[in-house]
Amino acid sequence: MVSFNILIAVCFAYVAFLFGIAFYADRRAQQGRLKFLHSPLIYTLSLSIYCTAWTFYGAVGNAARSGLEFVTIYLGPSLVMVGWWWLLRRLVRIGRAQRITSIADLISSRFGKSNLLGVLVTLLAVVGTTPYIALQLQSVTLSFSVFSRDLSAGFMQTDLASTAFWVAVGLMLFTVLFGTRNLDANERHHGVVTAIAFEAIVKLIALLSVGAFVVWSIADGPADILARMDASPIANWQIRPGRWAGLIFLSAAAFLCLPRMFQVMVVESADERNLAMAGWAFPLYLMLMSLFVLPIAVVGLELLPKGSNPDLFVLTLPLSQGQDGLALLSFLGGFSSATSMVIVAAIALSTMVSNHIVMPVWVSLRSSGATVSGDLRQVVLTARRVSIMVVVGLGYLYYRISGGGAALASIGLISFVGVSQVLPVLLGGLFWRRATKVAAAAGLITGFAIWLYTLFLPSIGGAGVLSESVMQQGLFGVGILRPQGLFGTGGLDPVVHAIFWSMFLNSFVFFAVSLFTFPTPLERLQGVQFVNVFEHSPGPRGWTSGAAGAEDLLVMSQRILGAQQAQKLFEAEARAQGKLGHLPDSSPAFLERLERELAGSVGSATAHAMIGQIAEGASVSVQDLMAVADEAAQIMEYSSQLEAKSAELGRTAQQLSEANEKLTRLSVQKDAFLSQISHELRTPMTSIRAFSEILRDMDALTPKDQTRYATIIHDETLRLTRLLDDLLDLSVLENGQVTLNREQVNLHDILNRAIGAALAPQDDEPIRIERNITFESAMLVTDGDRLSQVFINLISNARKYCSAPDPALTISVQTGHDQLQIDFVDNGAGIPAHQQPLVFEKFARLTDHARAGGAGLGLAICREIMNNLGGAIDCLPDQSGAAFRVTVPLQVETQEKANETRIS
Ligand code: ADP
Repeated sequence: MVSFNILIAVCFAYVAFLFGIAFYADRRAQQGRLKFLHSPLIYTLSLSIYCTAWTFYGAVGNAARSGLEFVTIYLGPSLVMVGWWWLLRRLVRIGRAQRITSIADLISSRFGKSNLLGVLVTLLAVVGTTPYIALQLQSVTLSFSVFSRDLSAGFMQTDLASTAFWVAVGLMLFTVLFGTRNLDANERHHGVVTAIAFEAIVKLIALLSVGAFVVWSIADGPADILARMDASPIANWQIRPGRWAGLIFLSAAAFLCLPRMFQVMVVESADERNLAMAGWAFPLYLMLMSLFVLPIAVVGLELLPKGSNPDLFVLTLPLSQGQDGLALLSFLGGFSSATSMVIVAAIALSTMVSNHIVMPVWVSLRSSGATVSGDLRQVVLTARRVSIMVVVGLGYLYYRISGGGAALASIGLISFVGVSQVLPVLLGGLFWRRATKVAAAAGLITGFAIWLYTLFLPSIGGAGVLSESVMQQGLFGVGILRPQGLFGTGGLDPVVHAIFWSMFLNSFVFFAVSLFTFPTPLERLQGVQFVNVFEHSPGPRGWTSGAAGAEDLLVMSQRILGAQQAQKLFEAEARAQGKLGHLPDSSPAFLERLERELAGSVGSATAHAMIGQIAEGASVSVQDLMAVADEAAQIMEYSSQLEAKSAELGRTAQQLSEANEKLTRLSVQKDAFLSQISHELRTPMTSIRAFSEILRDMDALTPKDQTRYATIIHDETLRLTRLLDDLLDLSVLENGQVTLNREQVNLHDILNRAIGAALAPQDDEPIRIERNITFESAMLVTDGDRLSQVFINLISNARKYCSAPDPALTISVQTGHDQLQIDFVDNGAGIPAHQQPLVFEKFARLTDHARAGGAGLGLAICREIMNNLGGAIDCLPDQSGAAFRVTVPLQVETQEKANETRIS
C-alpha cells in the first residue's frame, strides 16, 4: 500500500514538475521561440481540459449507474469539433480581430461594449462554475482518502476538509503564479497552456493504463470483457432517447460556452489553422478517454465489494489488485484532470471578474486620473490575483457547504445547463445583425432564472432553499410553476426539463425582444464586424490598388451619395485618369478621396470599414455592405423628410403670423369704419333733417331756395341709397346668390361702355385714357354688365385717386392661353406695397376719403364679381402708379372647342 506520505511527496514532485514546465514555456515565449508553443498539438491537448476529474472518475461511475449514457458527454463536443468547426473558426477569428479576452468580453463587445452584459455573463459564469470547482476539490480529496484508508488513525471528515483546503491553496498559488505573471494584451498564458497540455497526456496515459490492466490482466482480453459485460447488471441498461438527445445537446452547448473552454479554444489560440488538426485529433482523444470506461465499470462492479463508490473504481480497482504503482499513476491522472480544470477556469473567471466588475468599480471610485496613472497595470494584476483567490475560494466554500455528498455527475450537469444559457446570445450575436443588447440581457436573465429555479435550487434542496411544498405544489401553490414540472410538463427527467425550458424561454425572449428594440449605432457597427468577420479585416491605413471593383464601389457610393453625385464623382475621376467610359481605376488616391467623400455622409469609421470591405477584395460582403448603406440611406431619407416637414411648419407659421397681422390691421380698419359709417350716415341724415325742417317750418322761402334745399335732400338720399345698394350688392355676391347673365360679349364694347359711364362728359378734371384697340377684339362668354361694373370701378378710381398733374390711365389687353388679362395702370402715386393686400377688403380706404367720397366698397365688390365670373383681380406690384390686373377666363374659346369636339 502506498503510504500517505509517499502520496504527498509524489504530489509535490508532480506539481514541482508542472511548475518547471510552465516556467520553461514562459521563458521560451519571452525569448520569442513560440513555434512549438503555438503548434496544433499543444492546442489540441489543451482542449482536453474539457475532461475534468468529473470525466476521469465520474465517467466510470456514470457507466456503472446508467450504462452507455456517459458517452453523450463526449459525443456533444466531438460533433461540435467535426461538424461545427466553421463556427469555431469564426469564434477564433473574432477573438483575434476584436482582442477578446473572455466569453463575457465577447458578448459585451458584440453588443456595443455593454458592461451590463459583461457583468451578467460574468455572474452566470461564476455561479455556473463554482459547483464545478467544488467538484474538482471533492474528487481530489476523495482520491486522497482512498489511499489513507489504512492509516491507523483513520482519515476523518476533518482531514477531508483540510485536504480540500490545502489543495485549494495550492491551486490558487499555481494559478496566481502562472496566470498573472505578466499582463499580455492578448491574455495568453504559455506556461499554463503547456502545463495543461502535459497534464492531458498524463491523464490519458493513466486511464489507458488502468484500462489495459483491466482488459488484459484482470480479464482475458476483449472477448472475455464482452462476456463479462453480458453477465453484468450494466447489460440491462436501457437507452432513454429524450435524455440522450438532451445530454448531447447540452455537452455541445457547454463545450462552446464554458469559460475555461473559451479560454483555451479562443483566447489562448494563436492560429486558427490549429483547428484543422484539433478537428479530428480532439474527438480521437475523447474516444481514447472513453475506450476503457465500460470495461473498468463492469469489472469494478464484479470484483469490488457491494456498496463501494463506482466514482472511484479507477483508483480502487488497481489498489484492490495490489497494483500500487498503477494506482498512483491513476491518482495522478485524476489529480491532473482536477488541477488543470481549476487553473484554467480560475484564470478565465478572474479575467472576467477583474475586467467587468473589479476594474469598473475601481475606476469609478477613483474618479480622476485612472486612465493615465502609471500604476494601472499593477492594479489590474492585483485585481486578477484577488479574483483568482475569490473564485477558488468560492469553490472551496461551496464544497464545504454542500458537504461534498452528491454524486459527481449530477453537479457537473447542473453546471453545464447554467453555463449553456449563454449559447442563444452567442449564436445570435455571431450570425444575426438584428440582435440587440437589451434582448441579449433579457434572454440571459430569463435563462438564468429558469435554471436557478428548475435545477440549481432544487439540487441543493436539502439546504432548505426551496421548501417541500414548493417542489410538490409549485410556487405560491400554483401547479404549473412546479420547479420540475413547469407548465404541466411533469414526468420529464429534471435535467432535460431544465434544458428544454431554460433554452426555449431564453431564446424566445432574446428573439422577441430583438424584434421590438433597436440596436444603437455602436451595436450596429459591432454587429457587422462580428457577423462579417471573415470579410472584415481592420487593415492598415492607406489602400493598395487593384483589388477593389470600381463597379462595386460605384453601386455602394450611389446608395450613400445619391446616384447623380456618385456618378459625377466617378466620371470626373475617370476623366482625370484619362480613361474612356465612366469607371475609373480604383487607385489608392481615388479610394482615399472616395472615403473622405463617404465619410461626410456616414462618418469616417463606417466609410473606412465600407471601403475596406470592398477594397480588400471581399466580394461576398458587398451585399451586407449594401444593407448597411441602405440603412444609412433610410436614416438620411428620414431626416430629409423631417427637414421638409419642419420647413413646411415654418412656412405655415409664417403664413399664420401674416394672417394675424392682417387681421389686426383689418380690425383696426373696421373700428375706424364703424365710426366712419356712422359719421357717413349721420352727415346726410343731419342735412336731410335740417333742410326738411326748414322746408316744413319756414314759410317765407323763395321757390329758388325751396328747389335748392329739395335738391340737397334728394342728393343726400341718393348717396345713402348708393351706400346701402353697395352693401347689399356685396352681401349678395359674397353669399354666391347672384344670378349671372352670361352671354357672348365683345371686350371692346364693354370697355367702351365702362369708359362712357365712368367719365361724365362735363367732368372738370378729365383723365386721359390710353388704349390699344387692336388687342381688344376678343370675344368672351360672361356677364357683360358685371364685368363692365368692375371696369367702371377701376376707371373711376383712377379718376378719383390719380394725383398726377396730367392724369392718365393705360388700359392694355393680353391674350393668354385660356384667359384674358386686362391691365389698368395709371400714373398717380399708386398704392404702397404693404397696403396692396388690403385694398380689396371691405371698407378699405387708404386716401383722404373726404376727397373721394367712396365707402371703400368698390374694390371689394370688384373682387367678389371676378370670383363669381371665374376670374380674378389683383394689384400689380412695382408699377409707376396704381396698377390692377383683371383676369377673365376665355370661355368663348373653350366652349367653341367643346362644340368642335362634339361635332367631330
Ligand atoms: P371706394 O369705393 O371708396 O373708391 P375702393 O374699394 O374702390 O373704394 O378703393 C379702396 C381704396 O383703394 C381707395 O380708398 C383708394 O385709397 C385706393 N385706390 C383705389 N384705386 C386707386 C388708384 N387708382 N390710385 C390710388 N389709390 C387707389
